[in-house]
Amino acid sequence: FTEAEFYQQNFDPQEYLKEFYSMSNCWEGASAFMMQNLRILHKIFSLDGLRGDILIDVSCGPTIYQLLSACEHFQEIIALDYTDRNCRELEKWLKNEAGAFNWEPVVKYICELEGDREKWAEKQEKLRKNVKQVLKCDVTKANPTGRMSLPPADCIVPTLCLEGACKDLATFCSALRNISTLLKPGGHLVMLTALGDSYYTFNKQTFSCLCLQNHEVEEAVVAAGF
Ligand code: SAH
Repeated sequence: FTEAEFYQQNFDPQEYLKEFYSMSNCWEGASAFMMQNLRILHKIFSLDGLRGDILIDVSCGPTIYQLLSACEHFQEIIALDYTDRNCRELEKWLKNEAGAFNWEPVVKYICELEGDREKWAEKQEKLRKNVKQVLKCDVTKANPTGRMSLPPADCIVPTLCLEGACKDLATFCSALRNISTLLKPGGHLVMLTALGDSYYTFNKQTFSCLCLQNHEVEEAVVAAGF
């Protein structure tokens, strides 16, 4: 099992982005997976009820793809992750700093799904404006943001994170309970979970993944009180 401290020391955000999110450079399986996830997120965030003020991205890593559809419906986005380097990498993109990852192909793809590929620059600006804070969190803690208390969210979005952060199903259930404290009563959970994988690799490093089946995730979500 990959401890959080291993993430803090070894998870290289730029290598992660290059491996899984470069669309042109990354292996075909990765870009197919990402495009499928973008289509799913696009569909979910098109649902009528999925609106509100505050959205919290749980374990955002260095990525923004998961926020591209969401940012049309939530004005205040708070991004959380465990590692300093991931938070920093995300901030780099938000501030449009030199050396930030190029999300353009991904943004264009989602804009195309939404009906107008030409709106990509506008969407980037909207997302940059809507992400108000990037903070540290630990989903294995009862209070994931420690002493920092956040405004309760209308929606929380953990993507591809709890299965990496949790060593077994019991921990996965309690992590779901922990992050549910970030949510308003009646708020929405939008979760992307890898099923049936027990690890992932990039940059010659292997990270564990809790091997989950669909029904286990569904039961855990219900058990956590969602
Ligand atoms: N959401 C992104 C990143 C997933 S990678 C995506 O969809 O691609 C897994 C992320 O989980 C990493 O960013 C890592 O820093 C984070 N993570 C690992 N252990 C964690 C913990 N205990 N609490 C919060 N985040 C954790």
